[in-house]
Amino acid sequence: MISKDKINKILEEYNPKKTCIATVCSHSALQIFHGARREGVKTIGICTEKRKKVYDAFPLAKPDEYIIVDDPREIPVDELVSKNAVVIPHGSLVEYTGKKIDELAVPIFGNRMSLWWERERSKMFQWMEAAGLEVPAIIKPDDIDRPCIVKLPGAKGGMGYIIVNSSDEFYEKVSDENVDKVMVQEYLLGVRAYPHYFYSPLTKDGYRAAEGVVELMSFDRRVESTIDESYRGTLAGIDVKPSFSVMGNEPLVLRESLLGEVLEMGKNVTEAADKLFGGIPGPFCIETICDENLQFYAFEISARIVAGTNLYPDGSPYSTYLYKDPMSTGSRIALEIKKAAKAGKLAKVVF
Ligand code: AMP
Repeated sequence: MISKDKINKILEEYNPKKTCIATVCSHSALQIFHGARREGVKTIGICTEKRKKVYDAFPLAKPDEYIIVDDPREIPVDELVSKNAVVIPHGSLVEYTGKKIDELAVPIFGNRMSLWWERERSKMFQWMEAAGLEVPAIIKPDDIDRPCIVKLPGAKGGMGYIIVNSSDEFYEKVSDENVDKVMVQEYLLGVRAYPHYFYSPLTKDGYRAAEGVVELMSFDRRVESTIDESYRGTLAGIDVKPSFSVMGNEPLVLRESLLGEVLEMGKNVTEAADKLFGGIPGPFCIETICDENLQFYAFEISARIVAGTNLYPDGSPYSTYLYKDPMSTGSRIALEIKKAAKAGKLAKVVF
């Protein structure tokens, strides 16, 4: 991984007044550009010629400037550095760049170590356990004694997950080459809730965590095909094979009595990140399932902005209680970068 010193050296050359925000045109880019525009921060969209018209279709959320690329997996680092850009990692950017993100010689918002901990499922579980979160049991293929969900490494967006009820079914459904690569998790039954957090080491007022505060920005619930419509198939007499391909998100608010626990989970994840790999400034999300006893189980952490925040470009039922002006996660990122650049503290929120 590129050293923090090297990134700090790049930052030292940045002009605080010209610091801008760049990301790949995909995932949550509209929200990121729209939010930055609201905060008066210039934006750069890394985009293919073909996709540009999608962003031009939304004049208030298109980037101020495009860098046109043939392949969005190639991040034009030198050009970005010359433009004083901080790159915002989102789900597509992280997926497109893969392990290469570790080496990109351009400042990335947040701590890129956290993306590495997110990428390795076993490390992510170590992080969740260090944060004291309840997690689904991880079961060996030969010990499957209950409904389980089988996850391929790196499979994102729920694609290709399989449900199995026994070891025999596992070996029947999982190909030989994947047997040693998959993670088998106990299948959790309950309501999915995805709280979106923002950890700011620069802010002192609010829900204290590590050296700053953790802000609860919003919640979403994903809409997944076919599982979320499976009752329709069942009613129509079809034998539905559940699958978990994410195709969108819907909003959620929680009963207020659960908020204390959700805030505490965010604080614990932040503080565990601090101890394990030096912190997680910026947005993150804990993917949870809340069972009938109102117990939260976490099955994943997204160490960056999640697409569920796209529901709230004008703020959410929670950000309204944090900020007077409409505050999306996109605006919150721009605000943090603006504040940090002004105070000469970009190195605190960027790696
Ligand atoms: P993930 O790729 O881990 O975000 O999971 C994609 C989707 O699969 C989630 O949004 C859930 O609907 C479902 N899922 C993942 N893990 C579990 C689990 N342990 N129990 C039940 N459903 C799960």
